Amino acid sequence: MSRFLKASIPLLVVLALLAPPVIFVLLKPDTPLDQSPPTPVTAPLPTVHVPTLSILGETPDWSELETYQESITRSQFLDLLNRVFSPSAPWQQHIQVSQTTATVKTTNADDAPTFTLRFAPEGSPTPVSRYAKSHHLPPAPDAKPLTGLHIAIDPGHIGGTWAHVEERWFSFENGSPVREGDMTLIVAKLLKPQLENLGAKTTLVRKNSEPVTPLRPESLESLANESSPAGSPESIRKLADRLFYRTAEIRARADLVNHTIKPDLVLCLHFNADSWGDPNQPTLVDRTHFHVLLNGAYTEDEIRLADQRFAMLKKILGGTHAEELLVADSVATTFARVTKLPAYQYQPSLPNVTAVNQNPYLWARNLLANRLYDCPVIFMEPYVMNSKIDYPRIQAGDYQGTRLINGKLQPSIFHEYADTLALALKTHYQKARTTIR
Ligand SMILES: [Zn+2]
Repeated sequence: MSRFLKASIPLLVVLALLAPPVIFVLLKPDTPLDQSPPTPVTAPLPTVHVPTLSILGETPDWSELETYQESITRSQFLDLLNRVFSPSAPWQQHIQVSQTTATVKTTNADDAPTFTLRFAPEGSPTPVSRYAKSHHLPPAPDAKPLTGLHIAIDPGHIGGTWAHVEERWFSFENGSPVREGDMTLIVAKLLKPQLENLGAKTTLVRKNSEPVTPLRPESLESLANESSPAGSPESIRKLADRLFYRTAEIRARADLVNHTIKPDLVLCLHFNADSWGDPNQPTLVDRTHFHVLLNGAYTEDEIRLADQRFAMLKKILGGTHAEELLVADSVATTFARVTKLPAYQYQPSLPNVTAVNQNPYLWARNLLANRLYDCPVIFMEPYVMNSKIDYPRIQAGDYQGTRLINGKLQPSIFHEYADTLALALKTHYQKARTTIR
């Protein structure tokens, strides 16, 4: 997933499609909203502040953060900001921290309205986040350690006939085509009953190989066209595709997660890959690896966008990080121990990624899904689809028991993924909560 995350589309185009009155204000900041003939003005018109937003992003309602007044101390706030959420970006341009408050600009104008967060006194008890389940669930039977948890399983990508559009497929020699969206769905369907057997309530965010969003690439072509007027027809089509599968699709899933499913935790399932080049003549690499992503490491460009700045603050204040870290740390450790996959190592100089908790398998990145889902998100990136180690296992498909692959008796890669993730969650919650034998 996600090496092409950031499409940069001029904001104007997005607003033009989504909110015509707003664009009018943006283009003509001194013009009243109605288009009646100008009347003599006797008092200065108020300045109109239009926030700069991500593509298809919504204008934040900053008053939502009022609920977090005096819920976090200054040192806790600065620690999360500097260590996890924005270790390499100059966030001070948008957030001013005094001894008692953090003042956040709600747009990028010099005289932007601000939101002021009052810190809790140092040493005061931190309120328990509603997502802090690991240590706050009542005792559960030893065999049902996930009792009381609602877990959403999000099979990454779409797969099926959409795999070509979303560029998550390749075909090697005479083998079956590899489609990540189909593979994650197989794992999700194997995982679901296992988590239920352990006591969890579960919901699949995607149940088949169809998009969750009602939008289609064709319906996004005019947006793509207006944003890149000089683009070739081919580049416009590709841009519309990306707006469909990367942006609209994830935003639709976030709506479903936040407003309908409302889970305690989301498991985003992916298979990783190295750059494979031509999908009809892919490069197979020698290595495989694994890592888990948490939300964090916002870049300067991301913090500049009002909706992402707002989302980052909501993550910091809502207490999702602590729970996300607790579960991810434990899940990554068990998953690595059982699968023996080595840790993936990002280049330390990358500004959009940061290592977390000195666990070599844990990294923070600001992905659309782990930012928009309003709860802890465990974003799994095991295996390398185009590796000589994993490709034969993928070709073998799903099966019971073990088969001889690469000279070793091995379970199906899909079963190994689902079984190990279920075991990792079981182990985590058995340790974290009191169990009844
Ligand atoms: Zn993926």
